[in-house]
Amino acid sequence: MCILLTRRRALALPLLGATAAAAQVPPQVVASFSILADIARELAGPAALVTAIVGPGQDAHGFEPRPSDLHRVRAADLAVANGLGFDPWMDRLVRASGFSGPFVRAAAAIPPRGADPHAFQDLGNAPAYARAIADALAGLRPGLAPAIAGHCADFLDRAAATDAWVRAEFATVPAERRLVLTSHDAFGWFGAAYGVRFLAAQGLSTDSEPSAAEVARLVRRIRDSGVRVAFLETAGNPRLIRQVARDAGVRLGGTLYSDALGPPGSTAATYLGMFRHNVALMLAAMRG
Ligand code: ZN
Repeated sequence: MCILLTRRRALALPLLGATAAAAQVPPQVVASFSILADIARELAGPAALVTAIVGPGQDAHGFEPRPSDLHRVRAADLAVANGLGFDPWMDRLVRASGFSGPFVRAAAAIPPRGADPHAFQDLGNAPAYARAIADALAGLRPGLAPAIAGHCADFLDRAAATDAWVRAEFATVPAERRLVLTSHDAFGWFGAAYGVRFLAAQGLSTDSEPSAAEVARLVRRIRDSGVRVAFLETAGNPRLIRQVARDAGVRLGGTLYSDALGPPGSTAATYLGMFRHNVALMLAAMRG
């Protein structure tokens, strides 16, 4: 279910003519990164123009906004960030741009899980993300609230079906084989939700680089763990994971999408498609 708390901000505007004209122009939504943009597109349908500051295949950690991003945020009607420390540059960008519209930190209602900001990697959090963004969209255009609520319910049905598929697939793999080696620690939420253990070459953010001693320790842990496949990620240092994989004698099993979607048209081009892509690669490695 997707019940919206519509804030009737648009109706409070004094100039009816301006309101009617504004209602014809699709609102512009700017999201900090591609996963949030996809969720916003699902919810808005064709009623809004949604763009991402950090696009598919790009790394949102430590992103340095460009001057053009200031203009995009200033021109937007709604700004959406993850929060939880994932995209703090978006807060600075919103402030610096002089943007005065609603700014949603979509993960704000989700109880934090330690310092891990990747709450979107657990489909159990999809309702919290969807409701936060849907409420903000409906607040922009109260007349669209019923359509947005319908899109939201449909999206959450598909998210729940994807979640059930992920659980059913991993249930067929013995627990000791549900172990995955990746570049950075983006899958803590995923691992806790779906019973998969992750070894990561880097920390919670791709900003940090491990020391030589830490790499040596990780290589020993990998050898002890019995993991045979390592994954590249769209975020994170590919050189590091390649080196760790080589030193530990494990092969590379493809690219997992952790903090960004795949390119348009690819299997991981949507939020739910990303889960199916990632889980299919992990299952192949676990069953291999
Ligand atoms: Zn990350």
